[in-house]
Amino acid sequence: MIPASDPIDRVTAEVYRVPTDQPEADGTAEWDATTVVVVRVAAGEIEGLGYSYADASAALVVTKVLAPLVRGACASDLPYLRDAMDRAVRNLGRAGVVACAISAVDVALWDLRARLVRMPLLELLGRARAAAPVYGSGGFTTYDDDTTAAQLREWLELGVGAAKIKIGESAGAAEARDLQRVALAREVLGDVELFVDANGGYTPSQARRVERDLRDFDVRWFEEPVSSDYPAELAAVRAGAAMDIAAGEYCWGIQDAARLLAAGAVDCLQLDVTRCGGFTGWLEGAALAEASGISISAHCAPQLSAHAVCAVRRARHLEYFHDHARIEPLLFDGALEVREGSIEPAGTPGLGLTLGPRAEQFRV
Ligand SMILES: [Mg+2]
Repeated sequence: MIPASDPIDRVTAEVYRVPTDQPEADGTAEWDATTVVVVRVAAGEIEGLGYSYADASAALVVTKVLAPLVRGACASDLPYLRDAMDRAVRNLGRAGVVACAISAVDVALWDLRARLVRMPLLELLGRARAAAPVYGSGGFTTYDDDTTAAQLREWLELGVGAAKIKIGESAGAAEARDLQRVALAREVLGDVELFVDANGGYTPSQARRVERDLRDFDVRWFEEPVSSDYPAELAAVRAGAAMDIAAGEYCWGIQDAARLLAAGAVDCLQLDVTRCGGFTGWLEGAALAEASGISISAHCAPQLSAHAVCAVRRARHLEYFHDHARIEPLLFDGALEVREGSIEPAGTPGLGLTLGPRAEQFRV
């Protein structure tokens, strides 16, 4: 271990489970609650906070596998710690829950690092822009038309430049209803850009057919028309598409991002700070995308994504996902708000977030 000047002396992981405000589903999953694993790392009095939207088992990976490596180390030795964490999880497999655990620790380390030098995180990362544009995201397949329209109108009031609804209902078995809901969204949004996300719900030929139908509604972004497990199929949809094809939320590290980019699968690479290796993984992924001439967009976790998007030149926007937009101000004090369609990181040290008193009622 590298000798540390401000050694980390405490690493904790806590689990919070927040029920949805109503039943939710997309093309290939349904859920009634969201689980958040919150990691805190401290050097003396100064504490850093990170989190991931992950199964509770990620907390166990943090406390049993990662914490022994992090304790005694210095928060600024991020590359060293990242290397140590990667080696420690070799036989666990780094994808999925493990990548979420590593991401939450990485975010907490960046927060601690910034707080130790009393700097806003964005100042440490380096600023490419002052505020991150957001797009509204939700429009679940479980919603009736009134609920969908009301949610879209809420985002319009926030000044968003685009909004996204879920399609691919019941793994592509409800194509007519998908298009009816797209028509509704187009009507409510007026001139604001319309995005759709099928969460891999369609077959390849179905995705190509739906893509042609979506042109009638001036859809600009078709996310995971087919599963990201098959980059060549994504690329085939993209080849004839009149809109951007997006994917990348299941990139657990830059190797996954490299595979999508090498296949020519996306016009915009979506990376999730809470899955792809924290801010370290985000910056690496952004460099990789830049080298391929592809822009990136931040998937979910708006309170983290705002900093991430502001730090990268070719980052388009962040996903203001309904569940996370609701949960983050419930759990954290200092959560940033959307103003005129953007989130602007504040001048407070680190991320500016602390666990608030309301969090306790959701603790598992
Ligand atoms: Mg998605």
